[in-house]
Formats: sequence, structure tokens, C-alpha cells
Amino acid sequence: MHKLIDLPYAPDALEPVISAQTLAFHHGKHLQTYVDNLNKLIAGTSFENMPLEEIVCKSEGAIFNNAGQILNHNLYFTQFCPAERHSRLDRESPTGRLKAQIEKQWGSVEAFKAEFEAKGVGLFGSGWVWLSARFDGTLEITQESNAGNPVTKGLKPILTFDVWEHAYYLDYQNRRAAQLNALWQIVNWAVVEERYL
Ligand code: MN
Repeated sequence: MHKLIDLPYAPDALEPVISAQTLAFHHGKHLQTYVDNLNKLIAGTSFENMPLEEIVCKSEGAIFNNAGQILNHNLYFTQFCPAERHSRLDRESPTGRLKAQIEKQWGSVEAFKAEFEAKGVGLFGSGWVWLSARFDGTLEITQESNAGNPVTKGLKPILTFDVWEHAYYLDYQNRRAAQLNALWQIVNWAVVEERYL
């Protein structure tokens, strides 16, 4: 049985970047529905006791869509922290090897962020923009439609922004670019670095 993940922060902790209302629907309704759907779909099948990432790599159709959305949202929700906590446990910008690799490939963290946002804004329809690592440690920004996840292409996803309208419509309406730009305020780079290393 797959379960809804707990959020590692209070429901209103990401305001004003992500409102408590958006989190309540996004985590409590949308993600819960994907979890419920997947559990129903895999009952009695060869996917029933398979780890989530393996299901994503081996399934298609409705099972893939629901499993992918669970994996994607689990990565998404656990990479944020309240902006004010950045000064203590968590980090507001990349450090160490990840920072060095970003600067090597993009010239600066700001240039990387600009390309990441542009790829999110430019993705037509619903989907996700991703930063992933290749086996050799180099990085790649990719777009995935709908429930797609770069693990199916042999990449290790380390950061993602959700560009489905349900992620931002209550707070930003049609202004997807404004939401993507604001998300940097709450990215917990300590989590992203841990995924990279
Ligand atoms: Mn979503």
C-alpha cells in the first residue's frame, strides 16, 4: 500500500509563496487521489509490492500516470522549507560540489535559475521541469509532460517545479512565470544537494 507522505513543514509555512489553501488541495486532495487510485489499480497485479520508482520505470497507462504523479509530488513537496528557516538548518543557495557543477555548466546559479524557469514557462500544457544528474555527475534540465519523470531516461532527478495549473492557480491564476520565480525563495538546497551527492 502506498501512503500519502507527510509534509515536513506546517500547512501555512510556505506562505506567501505557496498558500495554505493551495497546499491543502495540492497535497491533501490531488496527491491523495493519486495515492488512492494507484492502490486500487495495482491491487492483485505484479506491481502490488513493487517500489514506487520501479513501477514508474516499468508501467504505462493509468498505473504509470498515478505512480509518476506520486513520485513527482513526493520529490516536489519534500524539497521546500519555510523561507525564514534558510538562515538556520537549510540552505537558500547551492554549495559545494553542486554549486561548482552548476557554475561550470551555466556560468552562474542565476543563469541556471533563468534557464530552469524558462523551460518551465515554455512547457506547453501540464507537466514538470526537472534538474537531474547523469551518472558522470553532470547536470541536465529537462521538461516532462503530464506524469513524466526523468528516472525513465536513466537520470537522477534532484529538483523539480510542478507546472500543472493546480500547483499555482489559486495563488497566481494564469501567471505561471510568477509562481516559478517565487519558488526559489523556498527551495531547500540542502535537500537538493543530498539528492545530488
Ligand atoms: Mn501537482
